[in-house]
Amino acid sequence: MVSGLVAGRLALVTGAGSGIGRAACQVLAREGATVIAADRNYDAALETIKAHTALASGSSAIGDHCAAEVDVSDSKSVKNLVQTLSKQFKVPPSIVVNSAGITRDNWMLKLSEEDYDSVLNVNLKGSFLIMQEFAKLMIDASLPGSIVNISSIVGKYGNMGQANYSASKSGLIGMTKTASKELGKFNIRVNVILPGFVNTPIIDSVPDKVKESLLKMMPLGRLGQPEEIAEVIMFLSSDKSSFVTGASIDVTGGY
Ligand code: NAP
Repeated sequence: MVSGLVAGRLALVTGAGSGIGRAACQVLAREGATVIAADRNYDAALETIKAHTALASGSSAIGDHCAAEVDVSDSKSVKNLVQTLSKQFKVPPSIVVNSAGITRDNWMLKLSEEDYDSVLNVNLKGSFLIMQEFAKLMIDASLPGSIVNISSIVGKYGNMGQANYSASKSGLIGMTKTASKELGKFNIRVNVILPGFVNTPIIDSVPDKVKESLLKMMPLGRLGQPEEIAEVIMFLSSDKSSFVTGASIDVTGGY
């Protein structure tokens, strides 16, 4: 029998081909969930399942875990994902983690409309489309659920060169709080995590000089690891947080 804090639950994680999404799949699988790793890069999502999730479940087999391709910014692609999963699984996911995200940094005065739109479309609209579709499924199935959105500490304080990104992440905090108010009566909890600077490919484009100055502002004096965000995702996904909804949680090393 599978044991763990989310044993027997089905979990959908977007942005699961890398970084925080990949680590979330690993930790959720370790705690007994069946994981759907969804990413716009199918091969990367499959790699998450093969190399990380199956092993975390204590087995070398893929088991019921699966990879799926989705572009969260495209409503047709999200609806296709819903259809594919409804054929594959008898119940919808009761855990949904919105980790897909991108940056297109530039000074606000130089930021192109295209880079503004693409960041808002993935980070904010993408999280909305996934929340809307999967909350409907949870409600139809009378399934209690937990949705965990990944914002950023930049959504709270802003950051030079990230007008588009910080706007998308602030928006996600507001949208999470609204969703928690609307979905509470269905026993669906919605929370948002605000990571600080975490060691994943998304920060590769940050110049070393900027990273060094950021580290000086962090009491713990180091970047976070994706697993350290994943453990908080795990807490919010599980019944250990059964009275927590509408919360935004900083996970920043004190930044
Ligand atoms: P990451 O390693 O780049 O992972 C993000 C994943 O999302 C990538 O696999 C990416 O694919 C995928 N993705 C991008 N656009 C997508 C789309 N339209 N549909 C589906 N998947 C898409 O970055 P991460 O650090 O794990 O970031 C995860 C989340 O944490 C993001 O929302 C990010 O904004 C947030 N965050 C990260 C940090 C940090 O310091 N790392 C701090 C605060 C918040 P591609 O590789 O093809 O783009």
